[in-house]
Amino acid sequence: MKAGRAASRPEGRGPCPRCGDGALAALTPERLAALAAQSPVPASLRAGDEIYRRRLDRCGDCGALREQVLCAHCGCFVQFRAAVLNSYCPNPGGDRWAG
Ligand code: SF4
Repeated sequence: MKAGRAASRPEGRGPCPRCGDGALAALTPERLAALAAQSPVPASLRAGDEIYRRRLDRCGDCGALREQVLCAHCGCFVQFRAAVLNSYCPNPGGDRWAG
């Protein structure tokens, strides 16, 4: 686990040139997971808890994960992407969520 979110980015650079540190800092993994749970996606299209946890575990070990919440390959918040049952991992080398 990283010591802090700011520690993972190059010195002097915020996570987003438009938002700066403030906006993304408020979007913690926990906050995004809570928001994803409240999204209007029908229950039949949601990933179950086991699938959701497994996907996010794999994102956690992935070099494309930024700020613990963003996928560098698609720009999605992974907490939202992983919550949709028929979603997939966009890793160019192969779907890291498969199997
Ligand atoms: S490439 Fe796949 S595993 Fe990696 S952060 Fe993106 S969605 Fe997660």
